[in-house]
Amino acid sequence: MTDIAENIRRIRSDIEEAKVRSSREGDTIRIMAVTKTVPPERVNEAVSCGLTLLGENRVQEYLSKKDAYSPGAEVHMIGRLQSNKIKYIIDDVAMIQSVDSLSLAAQIGEKALLHGKVMDVLCEVNVGAEESKSGFDRSAVGDALAVMSQTEGIRVRGLMVIPPPGESERYFDITRGLYEEFKGRYSLDTLSMGMSADYTLAVEYGSTLVRIGSAIFGARNYNI
Ligand SMILES: *Cc1c(COP(=O)(O)O)cnc(C)c1O
Repeated sequence: MTDIAENIRRIRSDIEEAKVRSSREGDTIRIMAVTKTVPPERVNEAVSCGLTLLGENRVQEYLSKKDAYSPGAEVHMIGRLQSNKIKYIIDDVAMIQSVDSLSLAAQIGEKALLHGKVMDVLCEVNVGAEESKSGFDRSAVGDALAVMSQTEGIRVRGLMVIPPPGESERYFDITRGLYEEFKGRYSLDTLSMGMSADYTLAVEYGSTLVRIGSAIFGARNYNI
């Protein structure tokens, strides 16, 4: 087995164990391969192991790599998105997880309609109220979902979160609380939380989609 195949095998088995610990055996947890800084050949190795969901941080990097990706992968944008770049990805991505303002949500909706589609989106929550991070404050999530659920051209599917470093457990718990509070009202089905360092904990706290980079592909030289 290659390093990537072996890493994926271990991640899948960790997730199965976390599901058992939290009595979630019947739930589907999607595993996303986060591709930043990873050459397309290595991304395709993950796809051939069945990880067909890819997470992209940067529009530019994605555009330079996408033609080399294996066909059939589903791509989600997970990094900060400038509104003038929506047009470059609107036809190719299945979901934009990093919606951090109502103005971005409206502009995605407009572009989607122009391109004859409805874009799935997640509302990004800045759960730790960190200056360095984008996303809606905890207290603003309810209002944001109310507006986004009425915005044409988008379909809001749930929440995405990156907790403050070292405090995953506390903030996963808070985010799960928000998700449970609004899930029924807005028909949400996606709670995107958990990365390489904390994906098993995230599953125990109700995550439905984990975004994993370095635990699949190895350490990056730099962070984005
Ligand atoms: C890089 C990144 C990840 C994955 O990080 P790892 O720690 O390498 O697993 C997940 N989500 C977002 C938004 C990222 O930018």
